[in-house]
Amino acid sequence: MNNEDNTVKVNPNIETICCDGGQDELGHPAVYFTFNEENKIVCSYCSKTFIKKMDLKDIKNV
Ligand SMILES: [Zn+2]
Repeated sequence: MNNEDNTVKVNPNIETICCDGGQDELGHPAVYFTFNEENKIVCSYCSKTFIKKMDLKDIKNV
């Protein structure tokens, strides 16, 4: 497991994300997080990190 898999780049226009831990053993009930004033959210279940990516060219999963 490498660290990059645990970081998700998010479109900066999105205010709320949903995390269900992904497809593997880290799966957990779906939870929603709101960015509020932050640019970063860390899921309290699986520690996955969601970062608002201001450079749209760097977003692969849109
Ligand atoms: Zn999660």
